[in-house]
Amino acid sequence: MTLPANLDVFASALVFVIGAYLVAIYVGLLVWTWRDVRTRTRDVLAQILAILLVAVFTLPGVLIYVLLRPKETLVEAYERSLAEEAVLQDLTDRRTCPSCQRRVEDGFILCPYCEHQLRLKCVNCGALIEPTWKLCPYCGHRHEVPPAAAEEHRRRPSRKPESAEPEPQPEPILSEPTASGAPQP
Ligand SMILES: [Zn+2]
Ligand SMILES: [Zn+2]
Repeated sequence: MTLPANLDVFASALVFVIGAYLVAIYVGLLVWTWRDVRTRTRDVLAQILAILLVAVFTLPGVLIYVLLRPKETLVEAYERSLAEEAVLQDLTDRRTCPSCQRRVEDGFILCPYCEHQLRLKCVNCGALIEPTWKLCPYCGHRHEVPPAAAEEHRRRPSRKPESAEPEPQPEPILSEPTASGAPQP
């Protein structure tokens, strides 16, 4: 009766191999679930629940986990949030005309749609400055004149305070209060 004994050994070996194969698959499923759930959530409870789901229900548990798991991984979610932030930043960077709310370029001085004064050009250094600024932050020049006067001032030749030719000063007008009207230019 050697053949049935051999058959018995063969059968038990077959059972062992199949059992080891199933255990390997089982452990593989657990490891895969563990790795996958960690890329998708930082919630420890959710991670444990996913492992338990696969540990108890094995292959159907994996199916349920795949159906229920978070759609994107943490890296994908992070990249998406970065992209959304970039879009938002791009939108806030774009200037709109405060008067007509249409989009204008950053270097515009006047709104091309409603002619609203968006920026001023510094009369000293030519930099673009906001009309509400008291002075040019690039050269320190004060521009406390209205925009129209500033434009006129820009067109005039640059004044030289120490020039040999004396410019009309307000003092002679004050010292000679003869004329009651406006002083002659
Ligand atoms: Zn406008
Ligand atoms: Zn300036």
